[in-house]
Amino acid sequence: MKIEIKDKSLMMIFLLEECNFKCAHCGREDEPMDPGYKLSFDQLQRCLSDCRNLKSINWIHFSGGEPTLWKEGTRDLVNLLLEIVDAGYTPGFTTNGSLFVNYDRCRDFFSLYTDCSTVPLRLYFSIDTFHKNYNAKKGRAKSLDNIIRLKKELSREKADLLNVSIIVTVSKDVDSLLPDEMIKNYESREIKFGFIPLYPMGKAKSFSHLCPDLDSDNPEGLGAYRRYYKKEDRKKPGDAEDRLRTDHIILIGNDYYFSDPWYKVGRLGYLPNGIIRAYSAKP
Ligand code: SF4
Repeated sequence: MKIEIKDKSLMMIFLLEECNFKCAHCGREDEPMDPGYKLSFDQLQRCLSDCRNLKSINWIHFSGGEPTLWKEGTRDLVNLLLEIVDAGYTPGFTTNGSLFVNYDRCRDFFSLYTDCSTVPLRLYFSIDTFHKNYNAKKGRAKSLDNIIRLKKELSREKADLLNVSIIVTVSKDVDSLLPDEMIKNYESREIKFGFIPLYPMGKAKSFSHLCPDLDSDNPEGLGAYRRYYKKEDRKKPGDAEDRLRTDHIILIGNDYYFSDPWYKVGRLGYLPNGIIRAYSAKP
């Protein structure tokens, strides 16, 4: 079977299993993280050392669980992001935004980053009807409004380091769409949106009838997701049989994985030559 890696620029690190949300569609139970799992600072440093052999990687991104809950002694997520910057990479993380609902915490977190770094930070907020982390009547999210306020208070140079995108999960159900006015409002403030279909994984398997059917010839199968569907997303004949497409390499604990389906491809301190070769060319 041929392995085709779509994004060779990204190292994804699952930082911890803990989360302060209970989303109905959460996929963690299908991911190879044990309950209570947490990556250590030492494991991050060993991963950064491995990345020197993976020449095409330029972006290191934290996911979870909720990455802002990570702590080890006096270190928190900002320390990890700055460690990535020191190693020469662009840092990023995906969050449910809960830490940033409080303006003082939002300011303290990002001011520390912008005071200590000149490298843009990639911030992805998961905001949608499954996370329930916005005011549906007003079409506003407190976490985003706080970042917008903070960016106005920072110098232009520092504000430009905070690149904010919103990831929206959309099911077949029209009620899973965000209000159009909300999207226009945040787009006008330089916030980008990305829309992804609900996938039948984790808890979402229990309501998989709401997952858009990306392989069907019938557009009705896409439901509300039809608005965001791109034809090139569709699987090509033969993909499943002779080609495994994988997005990027993922670190969980001491192990590197490809996902969908999940399988191990290496360990911290040991990556097979085939993987090192695949990542040898700059993207
Ligand atoms: S915020 Fe993310 S990790 Fe937490 S429960 Fe929701 S989907 Fe799961």
